[in-house]
Amino acid sequence: MNDEIIRNKKLFLLDMDGTIYLEDELIDGASEFIDKLIAKNINYVFLTNNSSKSAREYLVKLEKLGIPATIDNIFTAGMATALYLRNIKEGARIFVMGTQALKNEFREYAFDVVETGDDDIDYVVAGYDTELTYEKLKIATLYLASGVPFIATNPDLVYPMSKTRFLPDCGSMCQMLEIATGKKPKYIGKPRREMVDVIAKRMNIELSDIAMVGDRLYTDIALGINAGITSICLLSGETRREELPTSEIKPDFVFESIAELIPIMN
Ligand SMILES: [Mg+2]
Repeated sequence: MNDEIIRNKKLFLLDMDGTIYLEDELIDGASEFIDKLIAKNINYVFLTNNSSKSAREYLVKLEKLGIPATIDNIFTAGMATALYLRNIKEGARIFVMGTQALKNEFREYAFDVVETGDDDIDYVVAGYDTELTYEKLKIATLYLASGVPFIATNPDLVYPMSKTRFLPDCGSMCQMLEIATGKKPKYIGKPRREMVDVIAKRMNIELSDIAMVGDRLYTDIALGINAGITSICLLSGETRREELPTSEIKPDFVFESIAELIPIMN
């Protein structure tokens, strides 16, 4: 009965880091699970809060790992943020505290991306900036202190690596700016339900036909709950089984890893 809920989904939203792979290593079963979805004509979209890479870079990464995907199978928090801001102010002038890839992505959405602190701008946009410099922190701080609205691609505090190691992510970088300026960002990306709504609309799929699969409670699973879709937590990344009983965020299903979803889809 429970298996049927999962088996009958028409669209799987799949987290990547900690769900499909850890760093550059595919998690066992990931490739077989995708093959199974393709064979059954079930849609899938890789959903990531990692705004340090563009959708195209993800395509290359997935291809290298042997996971079949096209640009339509990828949705990043950077893309979600660009769409969100475009709806509010098309062609806005912005300062991006983010990677070159994120800046390029915003330029593709026709934003005017400034490089120095000399211009009047509409928004400061912070991403997971793996190319962060003090100069960028300085420019962002001065803009924020002067009252420019603050948007951030994703609230993640850390970025998971293999063997329980992690790196500071967008949320941690934003906290530094927040402490310095007293300004809090509006976070886009998981767990905001807009991440799901945009895709459901684009693909014309009912929310009841969608499942969110991920390894992190406060982004992936919270997104499933916020969007009103089925949530599936995998223990192959950040979440430990011992955390589940005391967590306020309760996934609908819990599995050790994506490999356990394969027999369910039969
Ligand atoms: Mg993850």
